[in-house]
Amino acid sequence: MQQAIVEFELDEVGDWRAILACGHRQHVRHNPPLVNRPWVQTAAGRQRFLGYLLDCKLCDEEQMPHKE
Ligand SMILES: [Zn+2]
Repeated sequence: MQQAIVEFELDEVGDWRAILACGHRQHVRHNPPLVNRPWVQTAAGRQRFLGYLLDCKLCDEEQMPHKE
């Protein structure tokens, strides 16, 4: 499910996490060449990505019927 970024925070080890509109958190690491997000390193870059939509897998899981 697509959720907008409402805030950013650093986790215990200094990796950036986006806080999404649904309340879930998702890592937005800058880890080249696999993940290239240089914007997350700067305050201006993070500011620019507020409201950006990320696919929240936790929301998708909550919507799936529970497998017993
Ligand atoms: Zn979510």
